Amino acid sequence: MSGSFRLVRLFGIDIRLHFSWVFIFLLVAWSLAGAYLPANYRGWTVNTYWVVGIIASILLFACVLIHELSHSLLAMSRGYKVRGITLFFLGGVSEIEEEAAQAGEEFWIALVGPLASLALGIIFWGLLAIVAGTNSPLEAIFQYLAIINVALAIFNLIPAFPLDGGRVLKSIVWKITGSVSKANTFASITGSVLGFGIIGLGVFLALTTRNFISGLWLVFIGWFIQSAASSSRQQQTVHTNLAGRRVADAMQVNRPTVEPGATVQQLLDQFIAKDFQRAYLVALGDSFQGLVTVSDVLKVAPDDRVNRYVTEIMTRASEVVTVGPDAPLEEALQLLASRDLNQLVVIANGVPVGLLAR
Ligand SMILES: [Zn+2]
Repeated sequence: MSGSFRLVRLFGIDIRLHFSWVFIFLLVAWSLAGAYLPANYRGWTVNTYWVVGIIASILLFACVLIHELSHSLLAMSRGYKVRGITLFFLGGVSEIEEEAAQAGEEFWIALVGPLASLALGIIFWGLLAIVAGTNSPLEAIFQYLAIINVALAIFNLIPAFPLDGGRVLKSIVWKITGSVSKANTFASITGSVLGFGIIGLGVFLALTTRNFISGLWLVFIGWFIQSAASSSRQQQTVHTNLAGRRVADAMQVNRPTVEPGATVQQLLDQFIAKDFQRAYLVALGDSFQGLVTVSDVLKVAPDDRVNRYVTEIMTRASEVVTVGPDAPLEEALQLLASRDLNQLVVIANGVPVGLLAR
């Protein structure tokens, strides 16, 4: 997730904080200090409300972190790599590198998070019982964390993919049908339907009751679930279409090559204006020199195009990102996406054999 920085490293996992977390942290502290605490605990000073509000919101995010750590640590214990955990405005997300290999693993890795939140809720209810009726900051913090952790457990169990409940649902369908792609489709459609349902409920609440802000939050959460579910469906489609295919199946071959000594104007007139390709291989005889793209050309002022040479503006062969013809197409797509490229040069035995366009 971009826009985040590393806070700390725990159990070999990078814990990152997204900038949107600051916004929600302030919102939680403010709503606790300004509304929830004064309504339930009378007679404290304003400073006490704020200090307790800030401590409670820090502890809330510690609880969210424990929830995410439970997913990540269980996944790691089963041999999966965890890239990191990012805390953001809607809670946290564990970046587990690959999909579970078995339905049972997916089931437990998803369920352990809500179980961890439930356990935290029970612990805080127990602590609350000790200090109940004291009207003390400790009572307020324990009560808030008891309620919020049980709420987190319940919310995450909504069977809307990508929430934990949706993953649990997916693993159950996977177990029953034996097909992970059917399970993915089922879970992401359920996620979309529930996402739209939550949006509808939010609009209804916002328009018909005085809970305008709560309604708006529901619309927002519903929209988040819906878009995450539909993007996971798209990924699944790409995965299904690309599975088993190689770079050689999709690359362009027999593309004209440009000489490094050609001017930028010649490249425009004799190549780009004729076949409208985005990128060309640059070669001198059989020797691969580099790659030149339309965006390289656009960086040259129109008046300069007759005086500048392809060799000046191209990406040199040593810096061009390449791929082999036998590499899986899905891997090539990931490479294109992660390096933010539009094409890869396909190289076999040191010689360019084609271009793979995004
Ligand atoms: Zn979770």
